[in-house]
Amino acid sequence: VAKADGRGVHRFYQREMHAGAKQRKRTEDDLRVAMSNDELHIAYQPQVSTTTEKIVGYESLIRWTHPSQGAISPEDFIPVAEDVRLIEQIGEWILRKSCMDAAQWPGNARVAVNVSPIQFVNPNFPKVVASALANAQLAPERLELELTESVFLDEGHDTNTMFKTLKRIGVRLALDDFGTGYSALGYLKTAPFDKIKIDQSFIRGAAVVGNRNAAIIKAIVSLAESLYMETTAEGVELKDEIELVKQLGCSHIQGYVYGKPMPHEEVLKQLSGGKGVATAEGHRASR
Ligand code: C2E
Ligand code: MG
Ligand code: MG
Ligand code: MG
Repeated sequence: VAKADGRGVHRFYQREMHAGAKQRKRTEDDLRVAMSNDELHIAYQPQVSTTTEKIVGYESLIRWTHPSQGAISPEDFIPVAEDVRLIEQIGEWILRKSCMDAAQWPGNARVAVNVSPIQFVNPNFPKVVASALANAQLAPERLELELTESVFLDEGHDTNTMFKTLKRIGVRLALDDFGTGYSALGYLKTAPFDKIKIDQSFIRGAAVVGNRNAAIIKAIVSLAESLYMETTAEGVELKDEIELVKQLGCSHIQGYVYGKPMPHEEVLKQLSGGKGVATAEGHRASR
């Protein structure tokens, strides 16, 4: 019986894997169509200073509206795009479009663009960045590149040279999703990050009495401050969480409490209104 069960389980996994591969292939094909059919667009989420309560910039987040499936999460299609190297093309498009949009924003608001490790290890990447800035006539300090700890996993690649070249161009660098990936900290000795983004898993529940996340946030802020880096609390949804992360010393906040990702036109409206954003209590809606 055990043997039969085992085989059954094995067959089940094969079928599952096959279905997974088929799904990925379909995502890949659809993604190629999406690129030429204008199905991809960008949404921008405000990033707010804890000291002034004003918006200092927006994170650029890709959105895909599939003609029959509707919205597909970047968490589902970015990994596929990375596997088949479509991310190089998509990433360059996002970078160029984000710079063009940001060049129209009043008050020198910054734009933060997510960069896949696949883009980051390409020796041509700095040229793409410089060209996107020049083309949009955007000052380099208004562009922030968000990288995750995974860029340090590729040991065959000269990460330090890439960092130096990017800093020479004058862009800002942010370490995204800090605390979730790679647990080594040695790279912080030399990597020239301007900012650490504290992953939203540490914000979740942090304002609840006795929750240990607050201690972790405090430690990350202290580490960042000693290294002269700013800190953004990601995924802040509640007013209590604003108060907490302010108290713990985070310099910036990003989260539904200040606004969900929105189209470029809405950013223009928000910024030309000139005021700091309202701190309406966010509801825990799904993304
Ligand atoms: P990320 O870079 O860490 O982006 C933050 C994610 O948290 C976004 O999800 C954002 O919508 C979500 N978020 C922001 N505030 C809140 C909040 O208060 N509550 C909750 N529950 N979520 C919040 P999104 O847009 O679905 O993106 C997911 C991930 O996909 C990103 O994580 C990033 O890793 C990747 N991604 C998105 N756009 C791009 C892109 O243009 N290029 C690359 N390479 N990756 C991207
Ligand atoms: Mg990000
Ligand atoms: Mg993040
Ligand atoms: Mg993330």
